[in-house]
Amino acid sequence: MNRVTAEITRNNMFNENDRLLLALSGGKDSYVLLDIIARIHDPKLIGVITIIEGIPGYNRVSNISWIIEKTRKLGIELHVVPFKSYVGYTLEELVLRARELGINVSPCTFCGILRRRIMNHYALMYGYDCVLTAHNLDDEVQTILADLMRGDLARFIQLHPLSKPLSKYFVKRVKPLRRIYEYEITAYAYATGFEFQEVDCPYITHAPTLRAKLREYLHEIEGRSPGTLLKMLNWYDKTVRTLLENKALTYPTKELPQCPLCGSPMAFGRRYCMLCELLLKLKLPVKYLGTRKPLSSPKHQ
Ligand SMILES: [Zn+2]
Repeated sequence: MNRVTAEITRNNMFNENDRLLLALSGGKDSYVLLDIIARIHDPKLIGVITIIEGIPGYNRVSNISWIIEKTRKLGIELHVVPFKSYVGYTLEELVLRARELGINVSPCTFCGILRRRIMNHYALMYGYDCVLTAHNLDDEVQTILADLMRGDLARFIQLHPLSKPLSKYFVKRVKPLRRIYEYEITAYAYATGFEFQEVDCPYITHAPTLRAKLREYLHEIEGRSPGTLLKMLNWYDKTVRTLLENKALTYPTKELPQCPLCGSPMAFGRRYCMLCELLLKLKLPVKYLGTRKPLSSPKHQ
């Protein structure tokens, strides 16, 4: 428990006066993130966002009841945002629609794009300086390996804490638990009274992604050779830091273009942003509000 707290205090990547938006799912990792950040940061500068994907049997009310209770007790602002109210559809509706049309898109793709969009949108709208997520060491190494396996250098670099957001409309993302093993988080959660009632996302169980396979594989390697994951993260951090500091990698200096449908920043060369493109593929109207116009006066110039 001491190592967990010490690691986070030492490595925190936000300033004392920053307004932090914590993205919490309701699981043990998000419990530990809120518990620690509320100890080391002024609760008046903390907000919480919980996204409800709309998956049958998942994201149950009981999963987030502790978030409602704890944020109320600490006087922390809470935003509960269902996919349905943001984009007009639940994740299940999007997945069923894709199946109906014979479009092969993984539920995790929809989910990832929408979650990132909603977190960023709320952070901009409410003037938060950083979005904090509860990704742990196991998650982080899975992402590093997945990016390597896909040959996605841009994402590989972008994952590093020293990387800057690619657009002034992207709020900085911080992962305070990225050097903490999942088992350490579990131990901390037990010790601080978290009630475990987690259910795995049914989409992961039905259609394991590359990440799910990597998770299993890395678990096996770590079991045989403890410390491997931390060594891998240290190697990654050092390598990318060296590349960034020596300017061996240069950032695009031009602001990203904006999606003509929703106004969100999108990669160069795209016609629409990934979210609008997915909705158009599914022949669904782009209903979501708030990002249609470029958001005015961004805090992050
Ligand atoms: Zn768009």
